[in-house]
Amino acid sequence: MTVWNPWHGCTKVSAGCRNCYMFRRDSKYGIDSTIVRQTKEFSLPVKRNRQKEYKIPTGEVIYTCFTSDFFHEAADEWRAQAWSMIKERSDCHFYMITKRPERIAAALPPIGCLENVTIVCTCENQYWADRRLPIFLSLPLPHKEIIHEPMLSNIHIEKYLEKYSSEIEAVSVGGESGEGTGIRPLNFGWVIETQMQCHVYRVPFRFHQTGSILIRGDKVYHIPREEQESQAQKAGMDWDPGIPA
Ligand code: SF4
Repeated sequence: MTVWNPWHGCTKVSAGCRNCYMFRRDSKYGIDSTIVRQTKEFSLPVKRNRQKEYKIPTGEVIYTCFTSDFFHEAADEWRAQAWSMIKERSDCHFYMITKRPERIAAALPPIGCLENVTIVCTCENQYWADRRLPIFLSLPLPHKEIIHEPMLSNIHIEKYLEKYSSEIEAVSVGGESGEGTGIRPLNFGWVIETQMQCHVYRVPFRFHQTGSILIRGDKVYHIPREEQESQAQKAGMDWDPGIPA
């Protein structure tokens, strides 16, 4: 797995940002996370080794901008160059998550330059799903996914799945990671309900991590970071209409 963080830093926009891991990690080192700045690895996708080959091999999925938001306004001046690198590396796939779908339309590259990019809109509760998804799903993007992470409530997205089921490539769910007070739990019932919505509209579903606190029935589970993905996998909730059960 390759991570490319062309810029670092962000500003909080909604409830899902409250315990942002990037802010928590920076605070340990006295770094002001609200200052968005280019990183030293800005040009990583096009870096070459001594043999003049790209350092990132062909076919790699490149997780992009995981310590910022690719569509943050403070990065407007750098984004064209980032798109240009993404276009040059059409042999790799770029995967980015945003809470700012209202900024995407004005920040897109020319048509035809997004075939190797998946943009994921994250919606942590019903309020933000109803504000972000109508904007996001109406955009002419070749690869779109929805994620509820950290999922903070039950969320109904049936009307979006019904209208855009052929365009939404996946819906995924995850809890909130972190330690100490203030970490919000994930209720397994919300996971089941989201999976059922995906079943009805035949959209692939993934439960990719539990977060630190999982409520299942009347039990509360505290799950260490290193087990949050494997515990989600053990729940057996992933579903793809293209793969027979
Ligand atoms: S948008 Fe993402 S990176 Fe930015 S503050 Fe919110 S959670 Fe953190």
